[in-house]
Amino acid sequence: MDRKSPIIIVGGGLGGLSAALALAHHSFTVRVLEGAPEFGAIGFGIQFGPNVFHALDRLGVSAAVLEKADEPPAVLMIDAFNGKEVTRVATGVPAFRARFKYPYIIIHRIDLHNALLDACRREPLITLVGDAMAAHFEENDDCVTVTAEDGRGFQGALLVGADGIRSRTRAQLLADGEPRRNGFMAFRTIVPMAEVTADVPRDSVALWGGPSGHLVHYPLRHGTLFNIAATFRRSANSERGDVAAYRAEVDHAYRNAHPTMRALLAMLDLGRRQAIGDRDPIRHWHKGRVVLLGDAAHPTLQSLAQGACMAIEDGVCLADCIADGNGDYEAAFRRFESARSVRTARVTLESRAIWDVYHSDGIARDVYWQMLGERSETDTFQCLAWLYDGFRLQTAAKRAPLPG
Ligand SMILES: Cc1cc2nc3c(=O)[nH]c(=O)nc-3n(C[C@H](O)[C@H](O)[C@H](O)COP(=O)(O)OP(=O)(O)OC[C@H]3O[C@@H](n4cnc5c(N)ncnc54)[C@H](O)[C@@H]3O)c2cc1C
Repeated sequence: MDRKSPIIIVGGGLGGLSAALALAHHSFTVRVLEGAPEFGAIGFGIQFGPNVFHALDRLGVSAAVLEKADEPPAVLMIDAFNGKEVTRVATGVPAFRARFKYPYIIIHRIDLHNALLDACRREPLITLVGDAMAAHFEENDDCVTVTAEDGRGFQGALLVGADGIRSRTRAQLLADGEPRRNGFMAFRTIVPMAEVTADVPRDSVALWGGPSGHLVHYPLRHGTLFNIAATFRRSANSERGDVAAYRAEVDHAYRNAHPTMRALLAMLDLGRRQAIGDRDPIRHWHKGRVVLLGDAAHPTLQSLAQGACMAIEDGVCLADCIADGNGDYEAAFRRFESARSVRTARVTLESRAIWDVYHSDGIARDVYWQMLGERSETDTFQCLAWLYDGFRLQTAAKRAPLPG
C-alpha cells in the first residue's frame, strides 16, 4: 500500500484524531472528515483511567493532557438515599501510582480534544476537513471513495469509520441495526465551583447510586468548575423535550433521596439530554478496505468511564497493525480485531454488570453494598488490573495465529 495515498478517517472525535496521529507517526498520509463545522468537543468533563496513558505517551500528548488535568484523590460511590460511602477506589494514594504507573485523571473534554487537535495540526501528513458529513462510501479494486452530504468525494487507500455510536459507516458496512438503548437518559451540567453550596467532596469523583439513576460529579480546570453528569431511567409519559415533565419525574423518583443528592439534582440542566445505549460485542469490524474503531465498533455504557479510553487505544493499535501489515490491509484489520475484540467486549460486558449494581434495588442492593464494602484496597486494584495495566500490541514473535 502506497503511504502517500491517504487513509480516510470519518469522524474527528477522540478515536479518529488518535488514529490520525498514530498513522502519521508511521508516515501515512491521513485525511480526517468531520461532520460538524468545527473540530471540537461538547463542553463537559471526562475521566480517564491510567491505561489510556500508554496510548497517549505513544501519541506524544501525555504532558499536554496532564497540564490541563486534575488527579482526584479518590473515586467514591455513595448511597443516594442515606448519603453514606459504599466503596472507594483510592486513586490518589501512592500505592495506586506504584501499581498502575500512571494517574487517574479528570479533564475538560475541550482541553483533551485540543491537546490531540494541536498535535494533529502540527503534523504535515494530516489534513483536517471540517463540515464534511460522510453520507456513504464505495469500494473499488484499489481504493475507497467517501461521498459527503454536500456531494464532495474523498478518495483513499483505506477508510476508518470513527464516527461514533450512530456510525453511518457501520450502518453501510455491517447493516446490523440501531444500538441497544437501555431506557436511560444522560443530562450534563457545568457550573462555577463558587456556586456550589451542597456539602459534597470537591476534589474527588463521587457517584451517587440509586434505583432510578445515578449521578456523578467532579471538579474540572483545577477546581474552578464543577461537572455533573446524571443518568436517569426514562418513563413512558415524559415527552421528548419536555423539561417540566423530566423535572417532575426526577423529583418524584428521588423524593426520598439524601438532601445533598436532591440539592445536586436541583442544579441539573434538564434541557440537554442524550439517550444511553451500547451494542452486543462482535468479533469483526471490517470488510475489504473499511474498518471501524471506537464507539462505531464497540459502544459501551459509561459505567467504567472507558469508552473514550478504548477509542484512543484502538487508534494506536490500528495504526501499528496497518504499519506492520506491509500493505496487506486485510491481515492488518484481522490482527487489529483479534488484538482488540476481547478487551473491548470485556469493557462492554463489565460496564453492563456495574450498571446493574449502580441501579440495584431491594435485597440485591444490600448484597452488592455488602460485597463492595468488604473489598480491601488491594482487592479493588486487583479487580481493575486487567483494565488499568493498559494495552500493548503483541510483537509479531508473540502474536497468536490470526483467525481465518
Ligand atoms: C454520559 C457519558 C459519560 C461518559 N464518560 C466517559 C468517561 O468518563 N471516560 C471515557 O473514557 N468515556 C466516557 N464516555 C464515552 C465516550 O464519550 C465515548 O466512548 C467516546 O467519545 C467515543 O469516541 P469516538 O471517537 O469513538 O466517537 P465520538 O466521540 O462519538 O466521535 C465521533 C465523531 O464523528 C463525527 N461524525 C459522526 N458522524 C459523522 C459522519 N457521518 N461524517 C463525519 N463525521 C461524523 C462526530 O461529529 C464526532 O466528532 C461517556 C459517555 C457518556 C454518554
